[in-house]
Amino acid sequence: MIDPLSLTIGAGLVVGGWALGRFGSRPTRKPTGGQQTARCGCGHDLAVHDRENGRCHGETFRKTGYGMKEWSSCKCRRYTGPTPIEDFFAPPTLPPSI
Ligand SMILES: [Zn+2]
Ligand SMILES: [Zn+2]
Repeated sequence: MIDPLSLTIGAGLVVGGWALGRFGSRPTRKPTGGQQTARCGCGHDLAVHDRENGRCHGETFRKTGYGMKEWSSCKCRRYTGPTPIEDFFAPPTLPPSI
């Protein structure tokens, strides 16, 4: 005699275990791949800093008075955040000195 209820429970357990094994133990990975974001002390990304003179082209939202706010250009003049590894280990290519 086959009991339909226990069959259903058994099937549910199998599916549940499969789902747990498939989705439960998946290592959580950050979208950035674990790489540290190159962010300056001013709070802006390295990308908005000028490569030539280091000035920041970002904008800050500052209070100007009684509830007044306005966007103003960032006063940062030099990037102070961590240097990305790609930039650090990729010096400008020089012609072979032979
Ligand atoms: Zn900055
Ligand atoms: Zn900035």
